[in-house]
Amino acid sequence: MLRIEGLTAGYSAIPVLNGVSIKVEEGQFVAIVGPNGAGKTTLFKTISGIVRPSAGTITFRHHDLLSIRPAQRAHLGIAHVPEGRQVFPSLTVMENLEMGAMTEAGQRDWKHNIERIFEWLPILAERRGQFAGTLSGGQQQMLAIGRGLAGSPKLLMLDEPSMGLAPTIADFIFERLIEIRRQSNLTILLVEQRVAEALESADHGYVLEAGRVALEGNNQTLRADDRIRKAYLGM
Ligand code: ATP
Repeated sequence: MLRIEGLTAGYSAIPVLNGVSIKVEEGQFVAIVGPNGAGKTTLFKTISGIVRPSAGTITFRHHDLLSIRPAQRAHLGIAHVPEGRQVFPSLTVMENLEMGAMTEAGQRDWKHNIERIFEWLPILAERRGQFAGTLSGGQQQMLAIGRGLAGSPKLLMLDEPSMGLAPTIADFIFERLIEIRRQSNLTILLVEQRVAEALESADHGYVLEAGRVALEGNNQTLRADDRIRKAYLGM
C-alpha cells in the first residue's frame, strides 16, 4: 500500500532522514520507534506533504505521492494525526469531527463513520457539544483519532498518540487502536516512544535511529532482539 524508498529529507540545510525505505502492506499495523530526534515526525510530515524530500520516492496505492499536492493526499486516503493532538480548542467535539470529514469519502460516509467513531470512542458521543479545549489530554487524543477516522482514511498515521498521557490512558488508546483495526480494514502506521506497547500492538516494526532504518522485523523478532531489549525495553 505504502512504499517509501531511499527517502532523504530535512529542514533547509539540516538533513534529518537519510535514505529511509519502509513498506506497509494493506491492513497492516506498522510501528516506527526510535529515540528523540531520530526523524520519526519528519517521516510522517514527508508522507503527508508538510516536508518536501530532497531524494527518494513514496508510492501510495500505485500513486506517486510526491507529485500529488498535500491537500489532495487526504483525498487519496491518508490521515495524519499529528504529534501533540492539535485539536481545534474553540470548536466543539462534533465540529472537530466534521473538520476531519472534509475529504470526498468523509463527506459521503459521514453517517456511517460517525456511528462507528462513537461506538469505538464513546466519550466523544458523550462530550459531542463540549469545546475541545476543555477536554482532558486523553480525551483530546481520542478526538484527534476520531477526526482522522472521520475522513474515511485507508491509512491512519498516528504520531505519538500516548505522549503526555498517564500509562492507563495510554494503554486504553493502544487497546482502542487494536480494536478499531480488528473491526475495520484500516492500515495503521504508528510512531511511538513507548516501544514495548507499540511492538505489542503492531505486527511489524521499524527502528529509526539518526535518520536511518537501524532494524526492522515482525513484532516477535523485534521484541526478542537483544539490541531492542537493551536499548528500548530496559532488559
Ligand atoms: P521526537 O520524538 O523528539 O519528535 P522524532 O524522531 O520525531 O523525535 P523529528 O521531530 O523528526 O524527530 O526531528 C528530527 C530532527 O529534526 C531533530 O534534530 C529536530 O531538532 C529537527 N527538526 C524538527 N523539526 C524541525 C524544523 N521545523 N526546523 C529545523 N529542524 C527541525
